[in-house]
Amino acid sequence: MASNDFNMDNQWLPFTPNRAFQKDPRVFVAADGMEFTTHDGRKVIDGISSLWCVGAGHNRRPIAEAIKKQLDTLDYATAFQVSNDRAFEAATLIADMAPGDLNKVLFCNSGSEAADTSLKVALAYHRARGEGHRNVFIGRERGYHGVGFGGMSVGGIPGNRKAFGSAFLPRVDHMRFIHDPVHHAYIHNQEPVWADDPLTDLEQRILPLHDPSNVAAIIVEPVAGSAGWYLPPQGYLQKLRAICDKHGILLIFDEVITGFGRMGTNFASDYYGVVPDMLNFAKCVTNGVIPLGGVICRDKLYDQMMKTDAPEHVVEFFHGYTYSGHPVACAAAVATLDLMKNEQLFSRAAEMAPVLGDAFHSAFKGLPNVIGIRSLGLAAAVELAPMAGLPGKRAYDIFVDCFHKGALVRPAGDVIVIAPPYIVEKSHIDTLVNTLADSIRKFS
Ligand code: PLP
Repeated sequence: MASNDFNMDNQWLPFTPNRAFQKDPRVFVAADGMEFTTHDGRKVIDGISSLWCVGAGHNRRPIAEAIKKQLDTLDYATAFQVSNDRAFEAATLIADMAPGDLNKVLFCNSGSEAADTSLKVALAYHRARGEGHRNVFIGRERGYHGVGFGGMSVGGIPGNRKAFGSAFLPRVDHMRFIHDPVHHAYIHNQEPVWADDPLTDLEQRILPLHDPSNVAAIIVEPVAGSAGWYLPPQGYLQKLRAICDKHGILLIFDEVITGFGRMGTNFASDYYGVVPDMLNFAKCVTNGVIPLGGVICRDKLYDQMMKTDAPEHVVEFFHGYTYSGHPVACAAAVATLDLMKNEQLFSRAAEMAPVLGDAFHSAFKGLPNVIGIRSLGLAAAVELAPMAGLPGKRAYDIFVDCFHKGALVRPAGDVIVIAPPYIVEKSHIDTLVNTLADSIRKFS
């Protein structure tokens, strides 16, 4: 196929500079294992698991077979007032993997829907227990919780908010970001230890300002993924849990990126030993093959919602999506999670994490414009000094150059992230890192 087959007459691409894309289309037509094939027949290594989704690598037969079988058996059934056997099976598997009493899975179709669902559960739960006045949400600067109005409101990436005027939830605040560029620019598979506690601002300014008794929930990504793989300082999530417990505030972990193996554990929650009240997931749960997301809630949330005086025919939680628990997506999830268990892919992610981190720190430290390197779990980031007056341009140019040299990496502002599928070999990491180093030099 020729580039001019992709003329942009009819497709408007998401989170993509469409004008630049039109001049230089990047189009995949096939994928297998660690590699894509482009429309012009070139191979490109998937260095980012197709945006943190494809943990098990591409074109995995057991997942495809499970989907085909499901299509031939029960293609679809409405999710309201009835359910399907695959949704029960997937929910059980997911709840079994989740820590603590995170047992009740509310399915949706994406990370954005998971964010909005979790915020709505928080409001409904507090109301059910007679605290309907709790309607303040607290997110974090540079947090990403998708693109719905709820997720956008608690999200903190300025570019994602700028164009949308005042279309935010009315009572939202943001904690300060977790990054100390002076003392912790370079982090190598360890948790940074901060002299200065970033949660002091939450305790001393934000909570007194709103009064903790009005706060419904605090939502964070355990590791800030979309912003560019920023790691919480040691003890941060534990302390956040304690603050929430002290004030009756629900803690939501958005594990859309960190869930299902990226940290070498089931969830980042396991990695850090902190159990949230709700855990949002999507992406890797189906290996990215079919959309599926969800919110895993602690028993106490569900139990409270069931403790109602309303007659039994009345719906307890007025929320859901037409495709919640879609049987084909749930069949994909069951097959994905079975495959990940059978091949011990989370352990493999843990095993390859230091290989990726070592490669990053030895290849990039000292290269022109490199101002930070962070690695933890099977993901690593190299932070670059922005070009004067053109934020994001250096990383974008590097991303395009890497693509043309056969490596898909992820630009996030002026950070470049690599987060390969868990099946990655050292040879792939070397190729990805060497390609990226060449491009960093080229755009110095
Ligand atoms: N939450 C987090 C932490 C994410 O990283 C993402 C996507 O990258 C989302 C939510 C949104 O997910 P989706 O694009 O599936 O709506």
